[in-house]
Amino acid sequence: MSNRSINLTDSLYDYLLSVSLREPEILKELRARTAQLSAARMQISPEQGQFMHWLASLIGARRTLEVGVFTGYSSLITALALPGDGRIVACDISAEYTDIAREFWQRAGVAERIDLQLRPALETLQQLLDNGEANSYDFAFIDADKENYIGYYEAVLQLLRRGGVLLVDNVLWSGRVIDPAVNDSSTVALREFNLKLHSDQRVAISLLPVGDGLTLVRKL
Ligand code: CA
Repeated sequence: MSNRSINLTDSLYDYLLSVSLREPEILKELRARTAQLSAARMQISPEQGQFMHWLASLIGARRTLEVGVFTGYSSLITALALPGDGRIVACDISAEYTDIAREFWQRAGVAERIDLQLRPALETLQQLLDNGEANSYDFAFIDADKENYIGYYEAVLQLLRRGGVLLVDNVLWSGRVIDPAVNDSSTVALREFNLKLHSDQRVAISLLPVGDGLTLVRKL
């Protein structure tokens, strides 16, 4: 059917990558390193990373937020889209995974642009609000524990400037969002989150079937 998103077979996906992916060597290496971890599937896909880079460049992002760093692929590719004085506030609770991230940020020469906050992201976001940083961020990415998505969203929305862009990952959750037999807390939280965004008049949205489902949000 031509009026809906195309079904990406393995071979068509390979073709998509072969004619569009421009992945820097350092990111290739980070992807290979992360693939050795048991949690490797938490890493975003390279074409999604390239899209994030493209989008951050498009809007001229300078101040950005990341909720959920893991081994740093998305923060690194975002950092590469920022000007020299750009800044990412990166939130995570895992020293083990972010040690890998910090190593690659260093090697890529962007470590000074990334302010890693190792504590619950809701605390970090509240701290930024308390510091008077509301309405000052250009770009944000939420890709962390799904139970807190609404909390992260509300805080990030306050921190974004008008016209600022937020990307939210995993909103299709491998299709579990439409499986009535699946009612674990993450799946239920994602259903609630998606419904909430659909009617939220504070933002413009677009849900793209990229990766595991990616919602683009623009603050009005
Ligand atoms: Ca994810």
